[in-house]
Amino acid sequence: MSNTAQVVTPEPEPFTRLGDRLRVWQGDLSRHEQTNVGVVRGDDAVVVIDANFESAARRILADIAEAEALPVSHVVNTHYHVDHSLGNGVYVAAGATVIGGAGQRRELLDKGPEDAVIQVGAVPERFFPATLEFTGTMAFPEAGLELQTVGPAHTLGDVVAWLPEIGVLFVGDLAVAWSHGNNFSDVDADMEGWIRALSHCIALQPAVVVPAHGRLAGVDVLTGQRDFIEELWAWSLDEAEIEGEAITDRTTTHFVERYPEFAVEPERFAEMARSMLRAARRTRV
Ligand SMILES: [Zn+2]
Repeated sequence: MSNTAQVVTPEPEPFTRLGDRLRVWQGDLSRHEQTNVGVVRGDDAVVVIDANFESAARRILADIAEAEALPVSHVVNTHYHVDHSLGNGVYVAAGATVIGGAGQRRELLDKGPEDAVIQVGAVPERFFPATLEFTGTMAFPEAGLELQTVGPAHTLGDVVAWLPEIGVLFVGDLAVAWSHGNNFSDVDADMEGWIRALSHCIALQPAVVVPAHGRLAGVDVLTGQRDFIEELWAWSLDEAEIEGEAITDRTTTHFVERYPEFAVEPERFAEMARSMLRAARRTRV
């Protein structure tokens, strides 16, 4: 055994700067830290958009302490799903307040345990849901940031984060830009609300769209996502009239060929189509 200490230099965190006040941390599915995180600097404090899981939250908070030398006053959850909210506790311990759209607190307490089992295999000892909920808009003028509620859509309490001066829009899971597809499975997902929320986002004419998962994108990710959901929803409403398994090879081929970025591949598409069908059947009772 040699007693030479091995110096391990930590990898720099994957941040992209998008203006004087904004940095975006790139999520990574291969590390099971798949949610993108926004770090917005005000004059006296930082606002974080989506917490990711605890491990990522610890590293991001350490980076903020060093790079921004400011405390984190608030962490915003674009919705309650645990890949966006399990890291909340790290920020709460550092003195931050968790913000969510109206209903998000209940959603995390009621539906979070099941989502945690699916995503991390266990229910955490404690959740840290939003303690500050709002409906409509909430502005952080110093940071050039405006939060807007757009749910029910992906979930009940969906929030988008808009930085109008630099034209950057965080859309949470309303749109994705990765090869893993969407999650339409939330029992409170509202497809018509989702389509309206995407139309609202498109009307803001963002220069840069930050989906919660995948690469930074342009407005085309919103229009493509809306077209895909619109067509899949129309198909689901028709198919919901018919009993049994409705996803034919022809349907799958059509969607995968027409929307390769969103329908992705047959297996993932089938999962998405099944969730949509369940949502369509819910509207019929
Ligand atoms: Zn989600």
